[in-house]
Amino acid sequence: MNDITPKGRAGEDGLIPVAGGWERGEGRLIRSVDPSDGSTVAEFHSASVEQVDRSVRAGLERVEDPGWRDLLPHQRARHLSRVADLLEERAETIAALQSSDTGKTLGESRALVASAAGTFRYFAAVLETEEGLLTPARGPYLSMSVHEPIGVVGAITPWNSPIASDAQKVAPALAAGNAVVLKPAEVAPLTALELARAVNDAGVPPELVSVVPGSGSVVGDALVRHPLVGKVALTGGTTTGQRIGEVAAQKVMPVSMELGGKSPTVVFEDADIEQALAGVLYGVFSSSGQSCVAGSRVFVHESIHDTFVERLCAAAERLRIGPGSDPATQVAPMVSFAHRDHVASMVDAAVAEGARVRTGGAVPAEGPLAQGAYYPPTVIDGVANSARICQEEIFGPVAVVLPFGSEKDLVEQANDSVYGLACGLWTADYRRAWRVARRIHAGTVWVNTYKQLSVSTPFGGTKLSGLGREKGRSGLLAYTRQKSVYLGLDENPLPWAGDALT
Ligand code: NAD
Repeated sequence: MNDITPKGRAGEDGLIPVAGGWERGEGRLIRSVDPSDGSTVAEFHSASVEQVDRSVRAGLERVEDPGWRDLLPHQRARHLSRVADLLEERAETIAALQSSDTGKTLGESRALVASAAGTFRYFAAVLETEEGLLTPARGPYLSMSVHEPIGVVGAITPWNSPIASDAQKVAPALAAGNAVVLKPAEVAPLTALELARAVNDAGVPPELVSVVPGSGSVVGDALVRHPLVGKVALTGGTTTGQRIGEVAAQKVMPVSMELGGKSPTVVFEDADIEQALAGVLYGVFSSSGQSCVAGSRVFVHESIHDTFVERLCAAAERLRIGPGSDPATQVAPMVSFAHRDHVASMVDAAVAEGARVRTGGAVPAEGPLAQGAYYPPTVIDGVANSARICQEEIFGPVAVVLPFGSEKDLVEQANDSVYGLACGLWTADYRRAWRVARRIHAGTVWVNTYKQLSVSTPFGGTKLSGLGREKGRSGLLAYTRQKSVYLGLDENPLPWAGDALT
């Protein structure tokens, strides 16, 4: 068993960053398990509700300390750039830790660490270029609008891309001048601790980032309900978002939410089939399907449906399944055995409802794959879009293929979902792509590509897929409050009091 930090950092195992220091968690025991073989990666105690409280209070105090509050933008940006440098220097260690914590391939973990570093660098740059607004006056005054920190932000993240999701919240929140109390997912908390370490080592006052691992219902809930937390930024499931939204309504507190999806990928009859196949495979099977934007509903024009499904299944069967540590692996295990069982149960339920499994669809029963939380790439057809398997998020390597006829039929089926996160369109006709892209309910539409994400481009969902946008220049403003200031320029008193002054 490893200690919770990379080997060689003796004496620090079991410690979490709380209220400016590293201390032992006072909550229940958390065991991080490597899903490729069931071995224990780390054991430590989650944070207690009291540690959440102290983290919030220490964060708020530090945010108001002039030593940090009055830093000029370029000075604060320098700290964020240093965090990016440290993440890059420590990339191999953090990537390895994340892979054993989540089962991800090392290649994917490396890319996520690079993305986290890029996010810090990007928000350092945005911070340096951020401008207030001088508004047109209607009297003898200067009127302006400025952005100020909210105070303490509660950041709550899932397990599927931990270091990148954490950075996506911590970087803009710090850039905007806030403190952050970060609650990572219970099953994958290790990289959040490394992120806090990099922030500390970059010279950011340690009270500004606490990490409180633990369950959502105890630790997460305490964070959301804390009266001094001024905003919650969540990435997670829709049900979690709805629960947090109810608390936020009582507190009249802003929230941003990146939630679930059931994204349509559409293959028109004129698509470049090789490109579409590669895009569909990557869209739904990369990250073992544990991706909010997974293209899990594959709509194929009826004229090419049967041949496309055959080729998709043949390619899915050739994907290499294995541990994240093997550089050849394309489909790594699910994050946990419990999640693997959940994916399997959803496929079994679909079969019971009449769905046809065209490939995959069963937990490996023998050989080395039987030791880990593996689920094979699975293609299903023979169901209508109204079936549960087409309406509910699976978060695993399962694609449901559906035929469509006209463009109208396609748009109706694609939009017949409670979600609206992403969409992929494969076609040679850019007029059609533009037309359909504008009619689909989704926060992001990819045309002839899939799952490409830039930190400069706003990201988020519509309908039950979320509220607000992360990334992009506006991503910084999401962690601020707007304040209007009027500077009177008149040499004379305001006229209303008139004679009363004499
Ligand atoms: P989850 O909703 O179970 O948990 C997400 C986080 O919320 C965890 O840290 C959890 O402990 C916490 N949480 C749960 N209940 C809480 C409560 N009542 N109060 C406070 N915190 C609470 O999701 P998960 O299983 O960790 O992740 C998978 C989900 O995340 C999927 O639905 C996926 O689509 C979604 N996701 C969305 C995006 C996006 O950008 N839209 C990105 C990644 C994942």
